[in-house]
Amino acid sequence: MQHFKTIIEPFRIHAVEPITMTTREARVRALEDAGYNLFGLPAEDVIIDLLTDSGTGAMSRDQWAAIQHGDESYAGSPSFTLFRKAVQDLFHFKHVIPTHQGRAAEKILFATVAGPGKVIPNNTHFDTTRANVEFTGATAVDVVIPEGRIPSNLHPFKGNVDLAALERVITEAGPENVPLVMVTVTNNSGGGQPVSLENLRAVRAVCDRFGLPLYLDACRFAENAWFIHEREPGQAGRPVREIVREMASLADGMTMSAKKDGLANIGGWLAMHDDAVAARCRNLLILTEGFPTYGGLAGRDLEAIAQGLVEVVDPDYLRYRIRSTAYLGDALVRAGIPVVRPIGGHAVYIDARALLAHIPPLQYPGQALATALYVEGGIRGCEIGTLMFGRHPDGTETPAAMDLVRLAIPRRTYTQSHMDYVIEVVTYVASQAAALRGFEILDEPPQLRHFTVRLRPLA
Ligand SMILES: *Cc1c(COP(=O)(O)O)cnc(C)c1O
Repeated sequence: MQHFKTIIEPFRIHAVEPITMTTREARVRALEDAGYNLFGLPAEDVIIDLLTDSGTGAMSRDQWAAIQHGDESYAGSPSFTLFRKAVQDLFHFKHVIPTHQGRAAEKILFATVAGPGKVIPNNTHFDTTRANVEFTGATAVDVVIPEGRIPSNLHPFKGNVDLAALERVITEAGPENVPLVMVTVTNNSGGGQPVSLENLRAVRAVCDRFGLPLYLDACRFAENAWFIHEREPGQAGRPVREIVREMASLADGMTMSAKKDGLANIGGWLAMHDDAVAARCRNLLILTEGFPTYGGLAGRDLEAIAQGLVEVVDPDYLRYRIRSTAYLGDALVRAGIPVVRPIGGHAVYIDARALLAHIPPLQYPGQALATALYVEGGIRGCEIGTLMFGRHPDGTETPAAMDLVRLAIPRRTYTQSHMDYVIEVVTYVASQAAALRGFEILDEPPQLRHFTVRLRPLA
């Protein structure tokens, strides 16, 4: 068989959304108005929006059709039954609790099991996960393998948990103070890096030794399963669905954002085996999200997610998804731009600390790079570094482990020519790196400051 190297999108375009072509001058003004915070920009002032892959993907013809099938009954909607069946077809958990998005699942879970004095280990807590753990008074500890913190290291499973560090954290805290162990697949904040089945099995064994439940932050479970399929010895012949089921079988529960590998624009869920924990979570759900058969979602959303879960494990989709992300990343590597390697599943992460070595971490080199990509090319990425993670609950500030700019790729949304433009803009900005300046903070909220912080460029 002839192997052609061009990655074609395994779909045709059915409806189009216009992109407004802005000028550099207009973008300079828009950025100033937004307090140099890219979250503050009107989206129509962005040409290529790589802020996040969360809820920004294109739904399929069959998902739009499923939306028409949505049943909006307050209680016992058949759309919920369909949704629960689709979830349980991949994740065998007894209780499936829909939420409006992933952070609502986190909020309910940690409000139920965490609290002052508790410690939650995770390969790397995502920002909302960490915030929800810390909001209860508990401590979030990251225990990713050391390779996972080195942007240039080529380990195939850089999201893996450091088992010795995990045991140490559990022993030091006392197992009675660790309500659960969490593993994020793929490891978003660590560069979209996968976790191997072998590592998940070993984490399971550690949890068993201490009698602790294991929860997956499963937002990108399908991408993680594809990496296992591609990289883990003995896994290439297995259907992705089966790999997902094995990942799930090693866990006691999960939190999920359907805005990622649910291929939907909104939604999430919390699932677990434990009847008592489920009952307490459902009580909270009713307080904050809604009745347990809709949980903050419309019946039509539940239908879109159910169909998304069928499409997301299609090998043609996953091959395209992972290879097209690598297309962008590999081009930046060839252009000599420091990026987190190997290229992750949903995003390319530029190592801003390496590219802008003249800007100290506490002057936010990631923000300097992200704002320059916007000014020069209208590309909106996201700082994942000291601005996002540097501030601690006690008010102190230290540099984050890495200062990255994430270019997250919305699912099934942009074409290869859009990516060729991104490559051109990033390469140009990198050539001007020495002229970029850092930032100082004008005002910030106490939690998740990166969403609303206002900044000023340093002279
Ligand atoms: C997006 C995400 C979340 C939170 O989900 P939302 O739907 O955005 O609330 C949690 N963990 C990880 C790893 C994520 O990527």
